[in-house]
Amino acid sequence: MPLEFLKRKSSAEGSVTAVPQATSSAALPEEIVAQEYQLKLYYAGKSSEGVRMRTGPNAMAELPSMLAGLAQSEIEVVEPLPIEFSQATPTIVRPSESMQWLNAHHTQSPITRHALVVLESIDAVDLAFDTLACSLLDGETDTSGYPEYNAVVGGVASHWDEATGDMIVRAVVGWGGRGVRGDTDRIGARLLAGLLTNVLANQNSLGLTAVERPVPAAGRGGLVCAHCGFASAHERAFYCPKCGMRLLRG
Ligand SMILES: [Zn+2]
Repeated sequence: MPLEFLKRKSSAEGSVTAVPQATSSAALPEEIVAQEYQLKLYYAGKSSEGVRMRTGPNAMAELPSMLAGLAQSEIEVVEPLPIEFSQATPTIVRPSESMQWLNAHHTQSPITRHALVVLESIDAVDLAFDTLACSLLDGETDTSGYPEYNAVVGGVASHWDEATGDMIVRAVVGWGGRGVRGDTDRIGARLLAGLLTNVLANQNSLGLTAVERPVPAAGRGGLVCAHCGFASAHERAFYCPKCGMRLLRG
């Protein structure tokens, strides 16, 4: 093939035919040749029913123990975000939202940040009212410490029931990224069951409860807690998302 090409070029006839070929390329071809580019991101997760907990001064401190036997890395606790981070979203094209998100989470481990990206993107966790205790639960991390797409992350999330002020804890797992594997869903379901078993086995557990997760109203944010000073980003909160004490309305 290269020889053929050289032969045509060197001959007088070949150089003549090359000219009309070049000019004809300016016209729109009948069929456009397109290079295709694509990235498929896949995030998925599962959340269990809530478990009502007998609350005490150490209620929050109990959360990491509910990952016992399942955590494959250090357990980190992510607390509800205060009002100055009320717009925080892991969406890079929205600079204000992503800056808030990075400012809120840059000190956390790669595993926790990955877990937050997955669980917040699929709306399994909302840091306006949730506290999340999480770790790697299955699979590997890359050389930078970030979970692979088929690694399962998660743990337990807690919030305060707006009607009673009780702490409600649910198991939550997530996974995803640039790819999907068939058995990850099954592994996620098994881990969710293991976590829920741990939550129910906790000494403060009062059993499964049907409680809707609070829906944070968009806009101004909530009140400053008179007990711990936390300024909630959750406008409808009746109980401080951080300490669980009754918020006093002025
Ligand atoms: Zn408080």
